[in-house]
Amino acid sequence: MVKRNSTFFSKCPLCGYALQPLHSEECKGCFHCSRKICGHVLLKQQEQDRNRELFSDFPDYRQNSVSFWEKIKDSLWNDTEESKIRKFWEELFLPETPGTLLEIGYGDLSWVLQAYQRGWTTESIHPNPASAKEYEAKGIRVQQGIPEWENYIDESFDAIVIRWALEEIENPVFYLNQAWKKLKQGGRLVLIAWNENSLGHELYGSKWLPLHVPQYRQIFSMGSLHRCVANAGIREKLTLFSTSSGQLPQAFPVEPFHSQSDMEKTAQKRLKEAPLSGEALVLICQKTKK
Ligand SMILES: [Zn+2]
Repeated sequence: MVKRNSTFFSKCPLCGYALQPLHSEECKGCFHCSRKICGHVLLKQQEQDRNRELFSDFPDYRQNSVSFWEKIKDSLWNDTEESKIRKFWEELFLPETPGTLLEIGYGDLSWVLQAYQRGWTTESIHPNPASAKEYEAKGIRVQQGIPEWENYIDESFDAIVIRWALEEIENPVFYLNQAWKKLKQGGRLVLIAWNENSLGHELYGSKWLPLHVPQYRQIFSMGSLHRCVANAGIREKLTLFSTSSGQLPQAFPVEPFHSQSDMEKTAQKRLKEAPLSGEALVLICQKTKK
């Protein structure tokens, strides 16, 4: 398991620039890197502990079917049958040829089940015991917790997918460095993380949900995720983009506090002006074959 201590940075751990408070009084434990291109967000442990109680029943990041965004998303995103199938593969971001997959984090395990049914040999490490149990009963291999990299042999996976997990890792640079070693040559590392510069963060400000998840230590921006991977010694990036297909903007408390039409207008404007405002960052790195 991840060790928890009270270590906190006065400077950005990725680029060394000074930290600034992220929002006003409402979000006292949140800081972000003052370097614009980085913008890495750090969440103070104290704040997380306070929220831990509030989040005791926060299971994982499955979409809430009755959420406000479910109701309006059709007006924002194309949802034909063909695009749904394409979306599924884009959400998993796996290579076409099945192989061995290690999947880590709070992501929806139904994706892993589908990969398994399409020929992948999968192994998942999921922090939520209820989800782990549910999907183990469906036939996929799920362990509970956070992986200890020393338990794995180097160059043993064709793909490693880390979804909604990097946020709670104490030393993400070291963690990614270790993950990269476990990939076979030609293997693929897929990172999916909350996007600090997302539409949701703009709409909800200090009430944006990822700022309130008790386990989290940091939230990445496109710049800081890029930097983190580079600091981990990974140079072979394939693509970096943001998407809303896996996650829709969410606030804490969960109820929206804008009117539906205001929200729709803001969303459409933002998506037009800044298409990289999706809630999720996706970074894919492909190890070259020697
Ligand atoms: Zn920084």
